[in-house]
Amino acid sequence: MTEKAAQRTAGIHHITAFVGGPQRNVDFYAGILGLRLVKKTINFDAPEVYHLYFGNEVGSPGTAITFFPWEQGRKGRVGGGQVGYTSYAVPPGTLTFWEERLAKLQVPAKRATRFGETYLQFEDYDGLLLEIVEREQGEPSKWSFGGVPADKAIKGFGGALLYTTAPEKTAHVLQHVMGMEKVAEENGLIRFHAAGDLGNVIDINAAPMGWGNGGAGTVHHIAWRAKDDEDHLLWRERVQQAGFQPTPVVDRQYFNAIYFREEGGILFEIATDPPGFTRDEPFETLGEKLMLPDWYEPHRDKIQQGLAPIEVRVLEADKQ
Ligand code: ZN
Repeated sequence: MTEKAAQRTAGIHHITAFVGGPQRNVDFYAGILGLRLVKKTINFDAPEVYHLYFGNEVGSPGTAITFFPWEQGRKGRVGGGQVGYTSYAVPPGTLTFWEERLAKLQVPAKRATRFGETYLQFEDYDGLLLEIVEREQGEPSKWSFGGVPADKAIKGFGGALLYTTAPEKTAHVLQHVMGMEKVAEENGLIRFHAAGDLGNVIDINAAPMGWGNGGAGTVHHIAWRAKDDEDHLLWRERVQQAGFQPTPVVDRQYFNAIYFREEGGILFEIATDPPGFTRDEPFETLGEKLMLPDWYEPHRDKIQQGLAPIEVRVLEADKQ
């Protein structure tokens, strides 16, 4: 086997979505889900909008969900060409804890089963589809916040359920470009495994789905992991050879990125594991200060004035 044929992504690097107000976003992902806000920065293409990153204690690849919160943004519709469900992995034996916690914090949730696993499905405040599943795999999170102790905390992504408009094409790119393995098919769904132990279980619909609309409450893109810069360039070549047109390598401060749209309509990114979120601030204070890339630093005051202040806080209902 050649080196390229052996190239397999470990799984999800991060998932990026559009949502409404930033404080609501922080209250949901930190306050309810107990994730750490590991980076508070801006949309590098639209500095009047935050870019917020939530993950485990350090926002390791495979744990980071990122948002562009925009109060005035129109609401999207979840559908084909998007990530449908974003799945979070929790330690075995903790699903009931999460069920009770979501009930206490007034987040309606229901149980669903696929491929023999039980999922707790719910929506964030903007309608983004989320689910929690127990998994043995994946390193436990060291972060605890509010009513979420570290031993029950979300480890990171379990995977995702992709909604594709062209399942055969999406299956092909997952297997033959991203290097995933098809492991099962049942009830109109196909399951793939990536090589890592977090963000590694990817499901897709087996029959084509109608297009969704981008906007608040929908995922913008899903990023897959590349080991380092060298591996990243090999990925770019591989994507290109498969007939896609990846963007040039883009510097996202905390990782390098390339983007391409797969033929089922979903925007894929491939992102490098390094350098990560401690690149520009220490572990202890991750997410506390508004971080700006060098080219925006001269405009810090103006940028800060344009952003609504946000606060990571324990929710009142969580104190009872
Ligand atoms: Zn991204």
